[in-house]
Amino acid sequence: MVKKQTPSAASPLAKERDFSIVVPIYNEEESLPILFERLTKVMDDYTKKTSTTYEIIFTNDGSKDRSQAILETYYKQRPHQVRVIEFNGNYGQHMAILAAFETVQGKTIINLDADLQNPPEEIPKLLEKINQGYDYVGSIRDGRKDNWFRTYASRIINKIRSMITNIVMTDQGCMLRAYSREIVDEIARLHETSTFIPALAYTLSRQPTEILVRHEERVAGVSKYSFYKLFRVTFDLATSFSIVPLQIFTFLGFIVSFFSGLLVAYLLLRRLIIGPEAEGLFTLFSILYFLAGMILAGIGIMGEYLGRIFLSSSKRRGFLVRKTLGQND
Ligand code: UDP
Ligand code: MG
Repeated sequence: MVKKQTPSAASPLAKERDFSIVVPIYNEEESLPILFERLTKVMDDYTKKTSTTYEIIFTNDGSKDRSQAILETYYKQRPHQVRVIEFNGNYGQHMAILAAFETVQGKTIINLDADLQNPPEEIPKLLEKINQGYDYVGSIRDGRKDNWFRTYASRIINKIRSMITNIVMTDQGCMLRAYSREIVDEIARLHETSTFIPALAYTLSRQPTEILVRHEERVAGVSKYSFYKLFRVTFDLATSFSIVPLQIFTFLGFIVSFFSGLLVAYLLLRRLIIGPEAEGLFTLFSILYFLAGMILAGIGIMGEYLGRIFLSSSKRRGFLVRKTLGQND
């Protein structure tokens, strides 16, 4: 792949690093202090040992708590290492990551959640794989610590995704991942408005691999994913990488039409031979409702794809930055 000119490379202040750690933040005032302490400790040790450099990019995804103020103190502590992108509102975790991807300076990019469910101490393990020549290091949560609903729902979604796309990911929901700069630059260039970054990165990778990482309880606060947000992300995942949902529907449509056609012919024959009958009214109703349901679902799925075309043709960026702190100010 050709190396693309990124906004960061074009800036006179741009400085190449070895690693960029990208962390999306939404109301994480309680987790932030522990995260910052543990993350800088791990990275300071690792970069000292290997004579490398790193930066941390926080995207504040419209937090309503003190997260921004806390992030600004981190920037003041380490102005050459910390960057903060403040969003104008809450645009979602994946948009937060995308915004950071547009300005990364590292050769390798590591994604981390702020709640410490994936311990930062696992980062060197990912980097070891990168050093072995892999350009995408996924992760599998070892002993997942989420409630049963999340765990089972995500298993089912994982199954469906592996059936309808050719993306090989054991644990799609685990965000602790490392990507090569080529992959990240390409994702930033694509400007997708509703996407699932680990899956998109996978489709762009040359040599992907996966490792097991520890999974812990959230250190503080509650999950920032409401049921609605989870549903959105799942739908994005299904429709971003495959048109199989649409094809299944078309296929079902044909089958249903075929059998309803037979039914109509049969009823017509009875009408001619036996004469008019009032029985079976409810059967007819149920068939009608069934068809109406199918039509509605179909329109919904079509709408989903149309929406996608609309969003990508409108060239909207999907987020608005209010303020940035750090080298690309
Ligand atoms: N997050 C975000 N915007 C959102 C929701 C979440 O930036 O709208 C961030 C959040 O601060 C955290 C990460 O995304 O760093 C994952 O969120 P969370 O841990 O709540 O998700 P879960 O572990 O429940 O899937
Ligand atoms: Mg979490």
